[in-house]
Amino acid sequence: MVNISPSSIQAMCDVINGADKVAIAAHAHPDGDAIGSCVALLHYLRGKGVHPSIVLYDRWPDSLSFIAAGAKDAMTVYESEPEKAAAIIEGSDAIFCLDMNSFGRAEALGDALGKAACPKVLIDHHLNPETDRFSTVFSMTEISSTSELLYYVLLAMPDVGGDAGNIPAEARNALMAGMTTDTNNFANSVYPSTFSMASMLIAAGVDRDAIIESLYGCYRENRLRLMGTMLKDRMTITAEGAAYMIIDKPLAAEFDIRDGETEGFVNMPLGIRDVRMSLLLREEDDRYRVSIRSRRGISANLCAKTYFNGGGHELAAGGKLVKGKDISGGTAGLAAYVESVTGEFLAGGRKENNGFQGNH
Ligand code: 5GP
Ligand code: MN
Repeated sequence: MVNISPSSIQAMCDVINGADKVAIAAHAHPDGDAIGSCVALLHYLRGKGVHPSIVLYDRWPDSLSFIAAGAKDAMTVYESEPEKAAAIIEGSDAIFCLDMNSFGRAEALGDALGKAACPKVLIDHHLNPETDRFSTVFSMTEISSTSELLYYVLLAMPDVGGDAGNIPAEARNALMAGMTTDTNNFANSVYPSTFSMASMLIAAGVDRDAIIESLYGCYRENRLRLMGTMLKDRMTITAEGAAYMIIDKPLAAEFDIRDGETEGFVNMPLGIRDVRMSLLLREEDDRYRVSIRSRRGISANLCAKTYFNGGGHELAAGGKLVKGKDISGGTAGLAAYVESVTGEFLAGGRKENNGFQGNH
């Protein structure tokens, strides 16, 4: 079971008891774990008579809207309403940062979050958290997701008393959805505590089938059509065992691809025996967003940190290359860069640590 420090729980109780308005933030480009954990905490705090708001740098993909359904009125996106987002942070008596290991992960919101003078609580499962900038920290890396960590934090709260049935139903659903996306539906980063969480949540009434249907049974046809094209024509496998796929703007436009619709693509090449690391690069206006997955023994995190201005977990990481600064030459220039750096990385056998690293 996950060990949650009683003194941190006491500190979190003090923060909640001393607050009327609370801001909840997560990393930019929010994924299912970020949205799931934020929404779960929002519902829990609402039940405590606190007035919580979720502030995000940018919008979540439509495919995750079912998680946010009951929370939309309390969610503010900086890119659409920068002044409102800043005012929420400034007017908060406490701030919770979820699923982000540093303020920088919230892009332009990071500064305001970091500067706020109120108590700040971090709940996160990434490597290298900025712990000294928070008054209370729940940080674990040997856990599936922030949603799972938050579940055990809530379970340890005195009013929940170890009974998942005392966590509000909307929060239970959001936690299950968040954990499910971050584990890729129990395929990666699963620990005994992850199954315990799922088991307790299902016993408490969570409808897992409905969540699976919403997550994996509601895509538009375009996603599968693009997936077919990527695997057939756009996946390159290098001699060193790196597979990479680039979705540039013309390709995304051809298939009318929206945010979130390439979720899971990066995992597929790792189904090939000789592929040791997989990269997916998606073009945006000013940058390429990078997703990296690796086999055990190869650090996606180190690769992301060294070559892609990013980080994450041992086997699942991400980053970015800014056009004109980090990369030039369009899609061909990007392909050449990826081949060169993955060749160097894999030939050197660079690892975060020597020897076996647990999942993450
Ligand atoms: P994904 O490939 O699913 O977008 O991200 C995989 C993991 O890498 C996630 O845990 C995510 O938080 C982390 N990650 C993605 N992009 C970045 C980035 O730009 N910087 C850092 N530090 N981590 C990232
Ligand atoms: Mn996460």
